[in-house]
Amino acid sequence: MSLLSMRFVPDGVLREKAKKISKIPPTMKKYTDDMVETMHAEEGVGLAANQVGSLQKVAVIQLPDWDEPLVLINPEIIRREGEREIEEGCLSIPGYRGTVKRSEKVRARALDLSGKVIRIKAEGLLAQALEHETDHLNGILYIDRLVSREKLWKITYNPQEGNPQEEAETQKSDDASPESELPESGTPGKSQE
Ligand code: ZN
Repeated sequence: MSLLSMRFVPDGVLREKAKKISKIPPTMKKYTDDMVETMHAEEGVGLAANQVGSLQKVAVIQLPDWDEPLVLINPEIIRREGEREIEEGCLSIPGYRGTVKRSEKVRARALDLSGKVIRIKAEGLLAQALEHETDHLNGILYIDRLVSREKLWKITYNPQEGNPQEEAETQKSDDASPESELPESGTPGKSQE
């Protein structure tokens, strides 16, 4: 397995729609293994192909308490229920978190590596991850779903405590979009400004 190279905002590939996979190539297993390895290295719970520079419609998810990752080919949300406001971050937007609107429950459909249809009913973190990753594959980022522009903040890192600390720093600018204020490739440990 090998690590894939991460893409960060404002890389244009993050704004493109991934293409549906009509025939799953034999190389897909190795590719999704690499995606999983990259996701683990980045300490994420999900990764979409755009985030590693590919426009194949594929994503991987592994929640903290799962033993195995879930590989989703051509994933789609087919039903959404309820609405909630939750905190979210993205490996492609390092150093930031925001409050977004998400569904309470979702139903999703995808193919597994063998081409078999899988149907998922989800709530909680899995519903969030499914919406986040299918959004990626449609060129959508969580910063498009902020409850308001002020609900995006930088994370500060305190090396003495060894824990990332979140600082509720609101963004005052009204005319600039959150995305245009983001660094080209932020460094989580770097202080704000
Ligand atoms: Zn993301």
